[in-house]
Amino acid sequence: MTDQLLKDKTGIVFGVANKRSIAWAIAKQLSGAGAKLAFTFQGEKLEGKVRPLVETLPGDNPILPCDVTREAEVDQVFADLGERWGKLDFVVHSIAFAPKADLEGRFSETSRDGYLLAQEISSYSLVLLARKAAPLMKDGGAIMAMTYLGGERAVKGYNVMGVAKAALESSIQYLADDLGPQGIRVNAISAGPVNTLAARGVSGFTGILDVVAEKAPLRRNVETSEIASTALFLLSGMSSGVTGEVIHVDCGFHCLGL
Ligand code: NAP
Repeated sequence: MTDQLLKDKTGIVFGVANKRSIAWAIAKQLSGAGAKLAFTFQGEKLEGKVRPLVETLPGDNPILPCDVTREAEVDQVFADLGERWGKLDFVVHSIAFAPKADLEGRFSETSRDGYLLAQEISSYSLVLLARKAAPLMKDGGAIMAMTYLGGERAVKGYNVMGVAKAALESSIQYLADDLGPQGIRVNAISAGPVNTLAARGVSGFTGILDVVAEKAPLRRNVETSEIASTALFLLSGMSSGVTGEVIHVDCGFHCLGL
């Protein structure tokens, strides 16, 4: 049914660390829908984890080094895609980082360096990637990012990452407005908790999974395949009229008051 949805489309996925990564679940569905994909990794150790995964996908999928705090690496990624494909249809931003010490305890104790680093990697990087990707999106395009409820409300332990997600969600709207005239749509998925490397850095994460399973309207946690199918929707023509949107894929947890 969806196997031709992204036929002849090219895209890049930032944020596959390992097989549990949300970006990997998304990549599998995008590839299954016929897209040609490029991937990035950070550091040699990670390439060791990313390459064996990517090699399970059909086709020739470039894997490029990219630490989003290094603008020269970001430039090189898009120069490489330009040479290889001559155009780009979509970008998946599934990147976040904050120092562990700032993901526990009192929010008022957040360090200056931790705050700035969380903003740079988890929020500013979307603006940077959008700016660099836009010239390659010659037929329009779609950009999506991953966010969490902690950007809208205070979630204990999420702390500085919540503030970074609030900035990310605001950036979605500003980018949507800025890039819309070029036919580029910018959206986000606010996912329920998923047990990944990044999530395990948040203190009390297991407790969050338990609360969602008990209280969410669907009485369970979300599957990564459900996040991925929403990503496929946002990156395909099926969502051609949707931009500046944050879609909650969290079994309904966000709609609760108490
Ligand atoms: P993950 O597998 O650990 O993915 C996070 C990715 O960010 C990793 O690939 C990581 O690479 C990358 N990253 C960090 N710093 C980077 C940098 N300087 N340059 C380039 N890449 C960098 O965890 P995940 O849960 O799938 O996270 C993906 C996204 O989903 C994040 O935006 C996260 O906030 C969001 N999200 C997660 C949940 C959840 O419960 N898991 C819920 C809602 C939203 P390294 O491993 O090299 O650092």
